[in-house]
Amino acid sequence: MATIRRVEITEFNFEVPDLGLEQAAAGVGNMAYVKGSTFAARRFALRIHSDDGATGEYVTHWVGTPSTLAQATMLAPLLIGRDPDHREQIYDDLKREIRAYDHMGHGPIDIALWDLAGKRHGMSVTALLGGYRRRLPTYASTYHGQTAKGGLDTPEAFADFALACRDAGFAGFKIHGWNDGNIEREVKNVLGVRKKVGDAWKLMVDPACQLRTWTDALILGRACDEAGYFWYEDPYRDAAVSAYGHQRLREKLATPLLVSEHVRGLEQKASFLLQGGCDMIHADPEYDLGITGVMKIAHFCEGVGLDLQLHACGPAHRACMSAIRNTHLYEMALMGPGMANIVPPVYTCGYSDQPQDLEKDGCVPVPQGPGLGVSYDWEFIAGHQLSQRVFG
Ligand SMILES: [Mg+2]
Repeated sequence: MATIRRVEITEFNFEVPDLGLEQAAAGVGNMAYVKGSTFAARRFALRIHSDDGATGEYVTHWVGTPSTLAQATMLAPLLIGRDPDHREQIYDDLKREIRAYDHMGHGPIDIALWDLAGKRHGMSVTALLGGYRRRLPTYASTYHGQTAKGGLDTPEAFADFALACRDAGFAGFKIHGWNDGNIEREVKNVLGVRKKVGDAWKLMVDPACQLRTWTDALILGRACDEAGYFWYEDPYRDAAVSAYGHQRLREKLATPLLVSEHVRGLEQKASFLLQGGCDMIHADPEYDLGITGVMKIAHFCEGVGLDLQLHACGPAHRACMSAIRNTHLYEMALMGPGMANIVPPVYTCGYSDQPQDLEKDGCVPVPQGPGLGVSYDWEFIAGHQLSQRVFG
């Protein structure tokens, strides 16, 4: 039996050109194209060391917020002295430990434990999970619409960008609309993008809870029905957690509702779905208590004969999707004309979630090396370090 001896959590920053914040925002932010501007992004990295000389590593993508960093820092000391192969027991204990919080800090720790397991046993996480596929059909997921000129500033700009993504080989396209909840413009956008790209290509829309009322959500849903959208996601200002409100939408709409990005973890997602809140579950290993949490949710969906979609992108997301039958598309989040995806530039192995690295078949690969199958530039992380906590 191995024992966890040391855990390091390092917060760091990196710069992304031509991006800025259109409005102040907590969490992941509302980015916009701002020519000549530089956006300073913060993420954090974890390393878990076991006494047999192995190290589990994970660098956060969209979950790397200050709030999540605080939760991960609360949980990290509880790993010291544990058997790293007891992921199920650790999952159960950490879930109970932060039951008063939103659980977002749990995911990065569980993911690093899976990386550690793969490295200790000389297997990829995809193989440990039981592989189902090696190629992941990928959709383009846009930044939000913006009001300042540039980027995705009009329905015409969305339609042009959708066409460019279709021609680049993406398997589908998801609109994140404007933040002001202007229902006329949202409807115009949903219909306009469909008209531009033709009938055959998968389209999705995610207002990200910016429509102000249930009735506006119904109006945009009817536009999705008219235009044959593949799914309709998190429409309105219940913050996408009202099972009853979404059940009432589902009674009136044909387009499948993908809701539960903000309903956290296995038990709450299961309850939400069983109460009629969605047609498809949305899950994310960074958000939903790690790879352990996501695989439980995927198997719950399999058990009730329904599908699951993974939210966002990263090596843990790819490992999960590689081992799930009942799912559709990998989300390259986020993209826009002239806008880089805010993924930390820390990979030394060729791993990429940048749109120009989509492969010719419209897919991204599943890393096959030990653990998550990626290697990180720890010199870059150390050189951009903002803070570090070490336990053990
Ligand atoms: Mg979403």
